[in-house]
Amino acid sequence: MSVALFTLGGTISMAGSQRLTGEDLTAAMPGLDELGHPVEIQDIEKIPSANLTAGKVLEVVDAASKAVAAGAAGAVVTQGTDTLEESAFLADLVWPHPQPLVFTGAMRNPTLAGPDGPANLLAALRVACSPAARDLGALVVFKEEIHAARWVRKTHSTSTATFVSPNTGPIGHVVEDRVRVLTRPLRLDGVQGSAEPSELDHLRVALYTVTMDDDGLLLQGLAETHQGLVVAGYGVGHVPAALAPVLGELATRMPVVLTSRTGAGSIVRNTYDSPGSETDLLQRGLIDGGFLDPYKARVLLRLLLATDDDITGAFAQYV
Ligand code: ASP
Repeated sequence: MSVALFTLGGTISMAGSQRLTGEDLTAAMPGLDELGHPVEIQDIEKIPSANLTAGKVLEVVDAASKAVAAGAAGAVVTQGTDTLEESAFLADLVWPHPQPLVFTGAMRNPTLAGPDGPANLLAALRVACSPAARDLGALVVFKEEIHAARWVRKTHSTSTATFVSPNTGPIGHVVEDRVRVLTRPLRLDGVQGSAEPSELDHLRVALYTVTMDDDGLLLQGLAETHQGLVVAGYGVGHVPAALAPVLGELATRMPVVLTSRTGAGSIVRNTYDSPGSETDLLQRGLIDGGFLDPYKARVLLRLLLATDDDITGAFAQYV
């Protein structure tokens, strides 16, 4: 049984001015013979992940879907690490198969001492082939750790240990050649409707991080240009009092999701009640983003808008 590999560029493929193909990446990887599964490669793009679009990610997910439907044990996607947490979560929301769909990349390119790409790719291929990793949706494998796409974050600009799941920790590890899954998060409903990749690329959802003395001027006119908004509020979901009516008014015109800018933990519902508190904002019609970080909340909201799914119901799964 084969395993499918899709390459999208990023640091893992940057050898000076040369961009490596999947063939180059697997040739540079010790241990491929012991994998026991032939790797079927499709080179899709050779781009920095800053240039990836949601539509492109959906196209790759579709290609991976076709590969597993044709008999592949699982699929691996290599891409730049900058947007990897968004790609993996988007893929997780639409991946319907029991076979693993694994995202990986590298922080040190192949020209540097100790490049991490070969080890990350080998571990990702091992996970993609493993029966133990079935029914877990999209995963991120980095530094021999297995992370659920819905919780993983890039937390450091240069460290090879950048991928962390602050709320849960990794769900498993690759130890020697064995894939050890220690905890199995329940699959969520994902998104029921289907979205055309081009449709998703045309949907504008803003992400707004609240900062001290924020008066909301930047939000003026947003309802004319955007279809949704994610607010990264303070702590458990707070904003300055002056911003609360601005957000409340926007929530009458578009879905506005409340999340925390802290990087871990959930917003709360009814602990504080001053103007701009979580209770006030939820009463004004903002949607509870629960444990979702702002970036993932934006991915989910954009997909829900494209598919016409129930927005409140979908976010309730993360509360
Ligand atoms: N800037 C690079 C990218 O995301 C970083 C990386 O691949 O690690 O394409």
